Amino acid sequence: MSDTGKCVFCKIIAGVIPAAKVYEDGQTLAFLDIAPFEKGHVLVVPKRHAPMLTDLPEEDAQAAMRVTREIGARLLARLPCDGFNVLQNNGVCASQTVPHVHFHVIPRRNGQPFHWTPGQYASPEEVGAMQAKLRTDP
Ligand code: 5GP
Ligand code: ZN
Repeated sequence: MSDTGKCVFCKIIAGVIPAAKVYEDGQTLAFLDIAPFEKGHVLVVPKRHAPMLTDLPEEDAQAAMRVTREIGARLLARLPCDGFNVLQNNGVCASQTVPHVHFHVIPRRNGQPFHWTPGQYASPEEVGAMQAKLRTDP
């Protein structure tokens, strides 16, 4: 099987496994992280398979950054959210676990303890409610 065939994000892009999608266009997909650092944590994923940012053609990287900025704006506008992190890991040594380029967009609130710990949603309904808040037509 090819790298693309084994890649979990390529499978999400192909619709083979489900994800709570919040944005999609021809070059980029964004969906809720399954183990969010904070609820509303979104992954912005170029549709072209590339392990590291330096493997990705510049135009795909630019498209993903445009969507990353848009998702940041939605977090600020639609959630209780005062700021956000953009995180992008390259290589196992840098804590990359899925070798397909992705940008984490993580909402943060004033007064909340800062951490990088994965969490979870309480139920599929909570996931659906967050998806509804963040997708293109809320
Ligand atoms: P990395 O450590 O590679 O920067 O981040 C990979 C992220 O992908 C992790 O935050 C992890 O929770 C998320 N992730 C891994 N598998 C899945 C999946 O099947 N669905 C979703 N929605 N997120 C996933
Ligand atoms: Zn892939």
